[in-house]
Amino acid sequence: MTNQELMALDSQYIMQTYGRFPVTIARGAGARFWDCEGREYIDFTSGIGVNSLGSCNPDWIAAIEQQIHAFGHTSNLFYTEPCVRLAKTLTERTGMTNVFFANGGGEANEGMIKLARKYSFDKYGLGRSNIVTLRQSFHGRTITTLQATGQDVFHNYFFPFTEGFRYAEPDDLESVKAQLRDDSCAVMLELIQGEGGVRPLDPGFVSGLRQLCDQRDLLLLVDEVQTGVGRTGALFAFQKYGILPDVCSFAKGIAGGLPMSGIMAAERCSQVLTPGTHATTFGANPVCAAAASAVLKTLSEPFLEEVDRKGAYLRAGIAALGSRYVRDVRGMGLMIGVGVQNIAHSALCAKLLDAGLLTLTAGSDTLRLLPPLTITYEELDKGLAIMKRVLCPAEG
Ligand SMILES: *Cc1c(COP(=O)(O)O)cnc(C)c1O
Repeated sequence: MTNQELMALDSQYIMQTYGRFPVTIARGAGARFWDCEGREYIDFTSGIGVNSLGSCNPDWIAAIEQQIHAFGHTSNLFYTEPCVRLAKTLTERTGMTNVFFANGGGEANEGMIKLARKYSFDKYGLGRSNIVTLRQSFHGRTITTLQATGQDVFHNYFFPFTEGFRYAEPDDLESVKAQLRDDSCAVMLELIQGEGGVRPLDPGFVSGLRQLCDQRDLLLLVDEVQTGVGRTGALFAFQKYGILPDVCSFAKGIAGGLPMSGIMAAERCSQVLTPGTHATTFGANPVCAAAASAVLKTLSEPFLEEVDRKGAYLRAGIAALGSRYVRDVRGMGLMIGVGVQNIAHSALCAKLLDAGLLTLTAGSDTLRLLPPLTITYEELDKGLAIMKRVLCPAEG
């Protein structure tokens, strides 16, 4: 199929819910993709932070192949080894206590919200169910997680939304306190707001929140759907912040490209979800779990330190361009936001695409870079060379 043929069929048969880039993807390897007609792209997106090991990582393929030959799926009515192995690794490496596996980020956040409400219901009864989330946050596309998302543009069309959320300003403890009332059961946040513009929260604010939640028996819910699984140079961003959440969700990068998500609970609320209170048919799929274990095996401590070094290298490389389009460069590990000025972030993203580099946007003025965690320095340099051509046109 040619690029044009594929795009035409897509518009005929697929609901047009995505503003797709005019690019087809036919094949990938590491941090590179090729379109239907063989044109190469450097990938600074990992499929929105999903392909943590890049495309077609051999260890990831081997783990999937081995499991799919054993059995590809059963139900959660039976005991299976791949999800237990994965949960054991996740909890041992984080200090969390146990895990519930689901399939996507929004769905994991739904589970986290259910857990928080039940924790409070079990202890205090009805009427203590409100959750404070932050402005500019993003928590998903379900009717509940849209409402949890602290951006008014998402609260549209699909009325009525789930009630029980109030919004506070990020990095402003007084604003959170003002929204916490007798009906509150939890505070929910991303440690680095991803879709909202790659904004890392202030560590003082986060530790202040941890204390506040402890004082008032509120659960601290950390949405690590984007920041989790090595993205920030720690297995989970909460480890960089030096806190333990009561519950955290993860998804995007966990299974390196297969659909999987989950929530982890700390000891205090590890027994809240009891038989019959939460379930999913596909959750804990053994092929996805085996893929995820291959991802976690790759993400050793030395590997995570290398993620930090690569992130610092890329951030410094972009800052050193001295481009008139770059206002600032922020982020942690390989979750990088480039504040854009003198041009629309989407226009810049399109120019980079034309030049052979896949990037993302976030917020209203940010170029977002989420390269595979396995990206090589050679691939980073190729991406930087393309950025230089596009961002510094005068120097050629
Ligand atoms: C992507 C994302 C979600 C939604 O995940 P889906 O898998 O698309 O449902 C939720 N929270 C955060 C922080 C995200 O980045």
